[in-house]
Amino acid sequence: MLVLQSILQNENFILCLAISVPLLLTVGAFLIFYFGFRKKKPLAEAVPAGVDSSVQIQTSDSQDAPKPKAASVSDSLSLTRSGFFGRIKNIFSDKPRLSANELEELEEILYTSDLGPQTVQRLMQAVETKLKAEGDSGFESVRAAIKNEMLDIFSQTQNAVQGEGILSALDFSNEVKPRVLMIVGVNGAGKTTSIGKISSLLAGQGKRVLVAAGDTFRAAAGSQLKVWTERAQVEIYSPEGVSDPSAVAFGAVTMAKAQNFDVVVVDTAGRLHTQKSLMEELKKMKRVITKVMPEAPHEVLLVLDASSGQNALQQAREFHAALGITGVVLTKLDGTAKGGVALGLAYEMKLPIKLIGIGEGIGDLRSFHSQEFVDSII
Ligand code: GDP
Repeated sequence: MLVLQSILQNENFILCLAISVPLLLTVGAFLIFYFGFRKKKPLAEAVPAGVDSSVQIQTSDSQDAPKPKAASVSDSLSLTRSGFFGRIKNIFSDKPRLSANELEELEEILYTSDLGPQTVQRLMQAVETKLKAEGDSGFESVRAAIKNEMLDIFSQTQNAVQGEGILSALDFSNEVKPRVLMIVGVNGAGKTTSIGKISSLLAGQGKRVLVAAGDTFRAAAGSQLKVWTERAQVEIYSPEGVSDPSAVAFGAVTMAKAQNFDVVVVDTAGRLHTQKSLMEELKKMKRVITKVMPEAPHEVLLVLDASSGQNALQQAREFHAALGITGVVLTKLDGTAKGGVALGLAYEMKLPIKLIGIGEGIGDLRSFHSQEFVDSII
């Protein structure tokens, strides 16, 4: 007791206690907060600006996490469906049959659905012919006429027999290696994202994929592409200090041939900072690729943003005239009411739609099937 009293009377000890207790409490609280409550920094934060951060990079954590439900084509086309089919249905809301007035209304709906003027004329003709022949201008009859005509339009550009999956969409029946896919389109259309999605699908089918970073004009293009190739778990060819896109394409195809890759996906610029014509640059790239493989590129895929509507048709015209497009990757169908542009591309440009983008995630790419598409919009 006496010892305790003497300790408590010692001023040094009390001073020491007054400093050390709050200090210990503070350190303790910090440690509890740091190890106990601190949330893990999400991987997405490490993704460079402009790249979709909602896509999960596979980690040991995310492998066990429940996978998000895959988007369906029909769900993704809901805006197009309500803007198109919904409005057609409205014409019939207070009357069972179409008269001349409502035919005009129908024509207006078609014109404002980004189908393209020639496609509208063809659909209107089909409706009028059917109405005359059958004398039935009821809703189901009009719907069937439009639907059949749409399927007929697509049947003239899509491969008649098309299996499931990316390997049939991009025709991998020929076993020549590597298969070279050149991906073109204006900036912002979804090229980088689509390259990531395509590479991931091909890798999932056991293909060894090399992505060539051919957009040497946009500073961030290389790093964004790298993020996507990591997600897709494929290799990237991006030589330091090479600013000529044709040299990148040449190098990538040469390396792929030597190292037995199955596929080379060549990214390209969507805009140039110089006065040089983009189309001339892309034509040169295409020529240079043939120096390594005379029959390549096997596909020149044009990436088009569906939400740009009629503008997409104009872009298709320019790219097709310069490069001979073999197919379209139509992106962002999930966020637009302008999905009807697919018909314009098929009818007015005679271009097959090969793949469709229905979301920002790496799994949100589907092969295009005309029956599924038409059933989803009308
Ligand atoms: P690039 O400039 O042509 O390479 O375009 P990006 O691949 O960088 O894509 C531009 C933007 O479009 C990004 O924000 C992408 O997430 C987005 N995007 C691409 N494809 C789709 C798609 O199918 N659906 C949606 N909703 N967004 C997409």
